[in-house]
Amino acid sequence: MAATPENQRDIAGIVDAARTIEGDGLEIRRAFPNADLDMVDPFLLLDHMGPMAISANPSGGVPDHPHRGFETVTYLLDGAIEHRDSAGNVGLISPGDVQWMTAGAGIIHSEMLDTDFFSAGGALHGTQLWVNLPGQDKMMAPRYQPLPAANIPTARDLDGKVSVRVIAGAALGVQAAVETVTPISYLHYSIAPGGSTYQPIPPGHNAFAYLLEGTATAGSAQRPIHDGQLVLFAPDGEGVSLAVPTTAVGAAQILLLTGRPINEPVARYGPFVMNTQTEIRQAIRDYQTGQFLP
Ligand code: FE
Repeated sequence: MAATPENQRDIAGIVDAARTIEGDGLEIRRAFPNADLDMVDPFLLLDHMGPMAISANPSGGVPDHPHRGFETVTYLLDGAIEHRDSAGNVGLISPGDVQWMTAGAGIIHSEMLDTDFFSAGGALHGTQLWVNLPGQDKMMAPRYQPLPAANIPTARDLDGKVSVRVIAGAALGVQAAVETVTPISYLHYSIAPGGSTYQPIPPGHNAFAYLLEGTATAGSAQRPIHDGQLVLFAPDGEGVSLAVPTTAVGAAQILLLTGRPINEPVARYGPFVMNTQTEIRQAIRDYQTGQFLP
């Protein structure tokens, strides 16, 4: 039976992202973890960088640091980020590109604003999502899935008011190219004023939406939300709806993330996310003794 608005998920809460400054003045809004929301299993963190103007500046970004036990998903909307890691991989992340990095057993990498972009200046806008790995996959071999903008399919609804970039999972009949360890969908909607969409969510999967830009409404109650806000959907119901009022000034940019919860203990220490404190201590020892280097 097709899902109807009657069995939509309710809204469990609306959370304002916490503003912080990272490194040399990068404006970050941290949707979670913050004082109001620790995680949305299997998602551990969502950072929203910018949108901000970069003028000529000495440096920017995050220098060499390790990761173990989860995945980092970088999505760039504007700007240019150069990525380097301990295995010798180097890559440029350009507007519309996603870099899906599975740290697994361990990687050391840097994420710096591209030198040419920095000397020229321009708009910087993007996100980083952390996706947890189940205990049995935390020590898997590291891997990258670069998703250039051209490899991210876009679906559109019939009235042309909704388009969605399908980064992971499926929406409006279009399937993403990326391979995920656990079932996840990562959707970027652009909804013009007067547009609305309904996305089915598999039973038991957690779901949240985050507004990158604009204003919108969520759920059957049409709760108003604005940029920098996260909408957490309740677990019961077959799907979620998002809409933009006809009176809105422009299109809204909305991320919709859904995933099957891992339901395991989470031990976090900075860039390491394991199941137990013992495993965290092991990660620190392994990093300090050079085990993360190839
Ligand atoms: Fe990193």
